[in-house]
Amino acid sequence: MLKALDSVDFASLQYSLEYAAKNSPFYREKFMKDNINVDKIRSKEDFQNVPFSDKHDLHKVYPLGLQAVPDEDVVRVHSSSGTTGNPVIIPYTKEDVEDWGIMFARCYEMAGITKRDRLQITPGYGLWTAGIGFQAGCEKLGAMAIPIGPGNTEKQLKIMVDLQSTVLCATSSYALLLAEEVKKRGLRDKINLQRGIIGSERWGDLMRKRISDELEIELFDIYGLTEIYGPGIGIDCEKHEGIHYWDDFFYFEVIDPDSGKVLPEGEFGELVITTLKKAAAPLIRYRTHDLTRIIPHKCSCKRPYPLIDRIIGRTDDMIKVKGVNIYPGQIEDALSRTKGLSSEYQVILENIDGKDKMTLKVEVQDRADKDQVIAEILHTFKSKIGIRIFCQCVEIGELPRSEKKSKRVYDHRYK
Ligand code: ZN
Repeated sequence: MLKALDSVDFASLQYSLEYAAKNSPFYREKFMKDNINVDKIRSKEDFQNVPFSDKHDLHKVYPLGLQAVPDEDVVRVHSSSGTTGNPVIIPYTKEDVEDWGIMFARCYEMAGITKRDRLQITPGYGLWTAGIGFQAGCEKLGAMAIPIGPGNTEKQLKIMVDLQSTVLCATSSYALLLAEEVKKRGLRDKINLQRGIIGSERWGDLMRKRISDELEIELFDIYGLTEIYGPGIGIDCEKHEGIHYWDDFFYFEVIDPDSGKVLPEGEFGELVITTLKKAAAPLIRYRTHDLTRIIPHKCSCKRPYPLIDRIIGRTDDMIKVKGVNIYPGQIEDALSRTKGLSSEYQVILENIDGKDKMTLKVEVQDRADKDQVIAEILHTFKSKIGIRIFCQCVEIGELPRSEKKSKRVYDHRYK
């Protein structure tokens, strides 16, 4: 079940591996330490023995330990936000910058954007990769960039009206904020927005629907991370069946985050990316900590690029019950299939006589049939996730809310 790799020319993967081993001080040392002889990696099975790289490893070689080309070939650096300690600095050659622009322009085309569009770019400009990536792709495509950057809602709305922006590039939370302001001020008839290119955070269907309803626009999920160029390494098309990714630039694998084993297509796990063309900072089997799956069939749009599913969470959010990995996105999906529930839930994990027990608390509307709700949820978990759970109904508003991310999982198993 390694069809994704079959579609990638193994030679390009091998080239990337040899390139990294030869030129990147980071990989040279890593492969030596782990006793990896790249000349012996002759097949896709062999490739699965190549060790992963992680953000943690990249921190250790701050500032420029990833640089695999001479200084004179580096034209730019970006950095990912360092939540603790040093950030990760990613250098780019002229070709890397060019390639990123090509990928980003491809994203825009995939979303139906043309030269006649006007893109209001609200992600930030600076050391991190967001704004400048949106800008480069826009110029490559030949559309009009409005590089306004984040914040200053007054100015955003004025520009949106005066310049008749047709595309909003934003994070989901900022798009929602602008959508609410547009509604509050009754500006919908004065603006000309048609599409939203939304990236950088995981966002649920509820939020998606609110943004698209209030602004009356079609939304596209753009994917990417600073360590791998930045945003623009994939996006959904007008069919919205998943996120197309550029398999001429990357090799994607999905692994079990616990065991590190490559999972068959269709199964959810952690996305691992190998760059095929990146010169200044190649990455081999880089663990993204993003949870998704490779969709095992082609998109109905018939484009050649393969699909991954929407990002359903981060590995840190994953829970393991009775040997089954469960992700918050799967629980939210199960809840959204059942009528009469709020979006709030709580998971209680216990160990009773050596066996895991998972209880899901959900908020049920007064008029809903509670027995019916419980039966539906148990069935969804059994059939979709493959696990038997217990379900408990509480009144709407009974589960705690918090301004920050609510704590939803209470694991009492190992105490
Ligand atoms: Zn498609």
